Amino acid sequence: MPVDASHRHVEPGRSGSAPDGPRSWQGTTLRRQNYSAVLRTILIDGPISRVDIARRVGLTPTAITSIVTSLLAAGLVMEVQPPNPGRDRGRPKVPVDIDPGALSVLGLFIGGTHTSVGLIDLSGHLIAETDVEQVGTSATELIEDIATAARRLMDTASPAGPILGVGASIGGWVDTERGVVLDHVRPHWVGTPLRSRLEERIGLPVVLNSNARAMALLESWLGAAKGVRNFIYVSIGALVASALFIDGKVYDGARSASGSIDHLSVRVRTATRCFCGRRDCLHVAVSDEAVLRLAYEAGVPTSIASVRELAETAAAGDLAAARVLRNRARHTGNAVGQLADLLNPELILLGGSILDAPEYLDDVRRQAAASSHAAPGVADLIRPSVFGHRALSRASGALVLNQYYADPLAYSPLARDARVRGAVQ
Ligand SMILES: [Zn+2]
Repeated sequence: MPVDASHRHVEPGRSGSAPDGPRSWQGTTLRRQNYSAVLRTILIDGPISRVDIARRVGLTPTAITSIVTSLLAAGLVMEVQPPNPGRDRGRPKVPVDIDPGALSVLGLFIGGTHTSVGLIDLSGHLIAETDVEQVGTSATELIEDIATAARRLMDTASPAGPILGVGASIGGWVDTERGVVLDHVRPHWVGTPLRSRLEERIGLPVVLNSNARAMALLESWLGAAKGVRNFIYVSIGALVASALFIDGKVYDGARSASGSIDHLSVRVRTATRCFCGRRDCLHVAVSDEAVLRLAYEAGVPTSIASVRELAETAAAGDLAAARVLRNRARHTGNAVGQLADLLNPELILLGGSILDAPEYLDDVRRQAAASSHAAPGVADLIRPSVFGHRALSRASGALVLNQYYADPLAYSPLARDARVRGAVQ
């Protein structure tokens, strides 16, 4: 199910912010869609004038004025100073923007080697973030550590407005419907009911999805894919994954397994056997662990413990390190070319530790062009993501904000407002 279309995880009633009256009080479907479209436009294009919102959304200026007035009254948006206040002779076009202090969310990003927990405001920006070490911890211990970090953050970082809920993301195969981690290599979790366990420990509703889909969503809102309807996000790091963003929405797939690229063939025999048993899988050719192992086998000192350090060694003239990184880039390009043929995207964003060696991105581009048959100009579509492997908790926070922006009338304070207005309209 597309993330955009899903309203099931953060039911207003569970967050304690629901109107207690009949659903009809919250307005018609069309009215709900209009509020969503206006608020999203302000988020992505703000500060923006009411006239420009009307043009983008396709509603009359009168309708926009009415919606913006109610958003202002609810404290969700604010008027800001126009860029050239003295120059407009007609009626002043006072732009509006999201009021970041209206609401906040928690974001939990459980990565391959560490977890970050962040507090995020309504405009998707980070208020505060903390890291949780996860090496050598069991699922139970890690969930407890995350909950402790989340509670500490809420106590110390003074959230902007009420906390709406928690967006959590993890690598591997995540069942977004049931909130269960079906299969995850590192940490090794199989069938872990992560959503319910986090809800129990933190006391807030949780939206769960994969790391790559969370990153794709953040890039589409505030990053390199702003305004792009169709793109692929490919993450090459401790984990290897992709996310498909199709027709303006993150695509989960029928069983939430879309974007799995671990076992795409790199068309050469790899030195190590993949956990699936084969010897030509992308995962064992390009993951951080695989790249470092290949580097050690090629004579690079074992004191080098990260791809960043390996890239520095290569830049200092180590030919073996450079060769390993170039091969990683080529294998990645091979996979990217195949994905481009499948999806014909407008853009392909790369994230993860592959960005720690930017001098090899042209090797990715060249190999993608060589391995693609149906995606003309694919080399020009490949770009580094803005957030890379930074701001990870913001990406997870975007999962819950995305549900909020899909239907803001379902949540307080608009839900309360809609009940009053709905009764008289
Ligand atoms: Zn495999």
